[in-house]
Amino acid sequence: MKTAILNAKDIPDRAALHSALAQELSFPPYYGNNLDALCDLLTESAEPIRIVLIGKEAFEENLGVYFTRFLRMLEDVSGESGRLTFEFREENEMDLQKAKEKLSELQKKMSAFDHASSLIYYDAVTGAPKGTAANRAQTLSVLSLESYQLATGPETVKLLEFLEEQKEQLDERETRTVELLLKEIRRRQKIPQEEYLEMQMLLVEADDVWHRAKEASDFALFEPVLEKIFEIHRRFAGYLAPEKAPYDYWLGEFEEGLTMERCDAFFATLRAHIVPLLKKVEAKPQLSNEILHGSFPAAQQEALSYRLMKLMGLDLDHVGLSTTEHPFTTSLGSHFDERITTHFYEEDFSFSMFSVIHEGGHALYDTGSDDSFAYTALDGGVSMGIHESQSRFYENLLGRSRAFCEAVFPLLQEVFPRQMYGRTAEEFYKAVNRAEPSLIRTEADELTYCLHIMVRYELEKRVMAGELAVHDLPGEWNRLYKEYLGIDVPDDKRGVLQDSHWSGGAIGYFPSYALGSAYGAQLLAKMREEIDVDGCLRRGDFAPINEWNREHLWKYGCLYKPAELFRKAAGEEFDPTYYTDYLEKKYSELYDL
Ligand SMILES: [Zn+2]
Repeated sequence: MKTAILNAKDIPDRAALHSALAQELSFPPYYGNNLDALCDLLTESAEPIRIVLIGKEAFEENLGVYFTRFLRMLEDVSGESGRLTFEFREENEMDLQKAKEKLSELQKKMSAFDHASSLIYYDAVTGAPKGTAANRAQTLSVLSLESYQLATGPETVKLLEFLEEQKEQLDERETRTVELLLKEIRRRQKIPQEEYLEMQMLLVEADDVWHRAKEASDFALFEPVLEKIFEIHRRFAGYLAPEKAPYDYWLGEFEEGLTMERCDAFFATLRAHIVPLLKKVEAKPQLSNEILHGSFPAAQQEALSYRLMKLMGLDLDHVGLSTTEHPFTTSLGSHFDERITTHFYEEDFSFSMFSVIHEGGHALYDTGSDDSFAYTALDGGVSMGIHESQSRFYENLLGRSRAFCEAVFPLLQEVFPRQMYGRTAEEFYKAVNRAEPSLIRTEADELTYCLHIMVRYELEKRVMAGELAVHDLPGEWNRLYKEYLGIDVPDDKRGVLQDSHWSGGAIGYFPSYALGSAYGAQLLAKMREEIDVDGCLRRGDFAPINEWNREHLWKYGCLYKPAELFRKAAGEEFDPTYYTDYLEKKYSELYDL
């Protein structure tokens, strides 16, 4: 479609009218600059043409009766060909420059609301006194209503739709921003308001019920709520993307473009390699992880955390650390203020150590966004899959490599002089790579981790398709743990109730963890073509590695869709065999297979 936008204030006479049309619609040089010639070109055009006229009264004033003839001709042509449309706009509605400024203001306001709510949440989980929940809820309810109205109100919709219509005049960043902001609005428009609220209420209830059910290790308590959660996810998918299978819709929510077809192929490849590899590992003598156990005071672990953050190149002026029950990363307002959390277990320092490196990877990715993206929809990481590709990259591919273990060991000796006395870097390397089927996903080693994800994927897929009843989830969970990991699940607490994702409404989220691991392995192979990664790690120099990631991934924020970003960085399509090759090589060496 060709679009001509004519503003009366730029068109004082008929000559200006014709030259503006000729320019905007790329008429040939022989264009005769009169209404007959115009009529011919508009009628003959194979491509649809849209003419927008800004300021009808001013046009009438400037062109007089000529404007009436011009309009009559447009009406005739549009009636005949159907390929021509024209419309009037008032001047104040149509100023593109103003609209862009408004868009920037809108995003700054949205970031401010987001900053306030995230900070309140962060405070809640990192140290607010127990009795302050109601006070917080009061403020959050006001903030969330205001920000909802700001993000989805009629003025915002009008602004974004106007900008969407002007697509050809927007640059890449503006186009993607409008796309991202409109996506959320369109989503909300398709779900009836009362059902949206029903979901919100259900999730508040579910969080509470899940905690109690997990505590009591009793799935039956959680079952009725979980049934509703799956049901509402199926229903919402029907509203949002009736053309897709419901589970495909939700997979795509966490990783744009991800489908069951892609997941099935991906997991089949992983299974074909990991299951036999694990069998071989299990036939060998187990590696000792004794070095990780003992008494490691929280204060020493905290000191280690800051040393690790510095070592991996985090800017401590912009990245903070706190402790929480479950480690996480969050941005406050923009990528200029990033917070990570960890949890210290005094009997095993490795949990916190690798949590800090994992969350540190998330923080590096977020803080690496181009500075000009701050306070816009493009700021920070683009998807869960790419995010996990970075966090698991630092945690496993680098953090559990021999080169890094050797480099970091003197630091461990410095922080834990008594506990590390007489120990070696090699012992540490082997301990943090001990592979062993286990019950809890978050504590799983690098080799068995994806098997935990596959169990969840299989179950979600079948429940969403109506092939498995929620009631039968614990039985199927236990059966698949036996089949994939070879272990018996003793109770629901350590089985089907262990994760918070379902109670939080994050159905379709799990595959992004596995996908991220595999993305990471392929990116590392690409990086190795340009950088001596092991050499950098041995020197404790993360700068070249971080620079590569910044140049290829981080700086782009949300500008590209995840698959496109990955393709640009990796230089080819996603191929999970990089990951399976990496695992096979690493574990064959570790276990002398
Ligand atoms: Zn993570």
